[in-house]
Amino acid sequence: MAEIIDGKAISSQIKEEAKLEAAELSKKNITPCLAVVLVGDDPASQVYVRNKKKACEFCGIRSLSYELSADTSEAELLTLIDKLNADKDCNGILVQLPLPKHIDENKVLLRILPEKDVDGFHPYNVGLLSIGKASLKACTPAGCIELIKRSGVDITGKNCVVVGRSNIVGKPVGMLLLSENGTVTTCHSKTRDIGGICRNADILIAAVGIPKFIKEDMVKEGVVVIDVGINRGADNKLTGDVDFENVSKKASYITPVPGGVGPMTIAMLMKNCIIACKAQNNIE
Ligand code: NDP
Repeated sequence: MAEIIDGKAISSQIKEEAKLEAAELSKKNITPCLAVVLVGDDPASQVYVRNKKKACEFCGIRSLSYELSADTSEAELLTLIDKLNADKDCNGILVQLPLPKHIDENKVLLRILPEKDVDGFHPYNVGLLSIGKASLKACTPAGCIELIKRSGVDITGKNCVVVGRSNIVGKPVGMLLLSENGTVTTCHSKTRDIGGICRNADILIAAVGIPKFIKEDMVKEGVVVIDVGINRGADNKLTGDVDFENVSKKASYITPVPGGVGPMTIAMLMKNCIIACKAQNNIE
């Protein structure tokens, strides 16, 4: 039976570390500050934004909140980003996605200064990630790596299989595993014999968006499984991309859903706010 990787506990550790760093910065009269921008009234986004503000409060990071109506124009949003880019006291800018359809998401993300891009989505930061030099790494992928490393699992030389190639999870997590000296294979909807490829994995990351996609017969004994999936059923219950009940019988380590990767995203965001603040204040 697998050891459960406790994402709640590990994310708490990371938030505690961010809190300590924020306290150190406050001794230098510096308060890290994150601006959170929400456009529209999507209930799930409102919950995410509220949780981000709560985490900021816990860590001692000042949060600026911009809740804009759904009919906000692209030009108005870009003007706000320009203002936050120019604000020396604001270290990080997070625009909650998805944006309403009339706003070009790419244009908005490109407008955020890379040094304030605490989500790690700006192509400049993605480029740095691909050459192994990123300081602001996409939060969910970086969270996956922390879960593996803090469980005492060494990635070096391991066969790492990522199922999913999205820009926000699959591709960046693959690049991070490569930076950690893993041997990485990425699968997607056109991949042939996914089962065969997954069965070769020492470390398996599932970021597919299909409930229980990874089945017991797709993994080998002792595999380390990180389940990024968050799938909400008709009963409102969350299910991951991995058939936890059966896969956990073969795995050595596995993340649950909820309580695995989910809480890590905000914790890594807090870490990124501290990194951005220190860099902007020329602190090592
Ligand atoms: P996307 O829908 O953007 O990407 C899904 C990926 O899975 C695609 O690359 C797609 O392939 C691949 N895929 C789809 N169907 C199959 C299939 N039958 N066989 C193999 N591959 C397939 O999703 P995201 O990456 O944004 O998210 C993935 C999951 O992670 C979701 O459940 C999401 O809710 C969750 N998530 C969780 C976060 C967290 O904080 N824990 C943060 C972000 C996401 P192709 O490219 O060929 O279409």
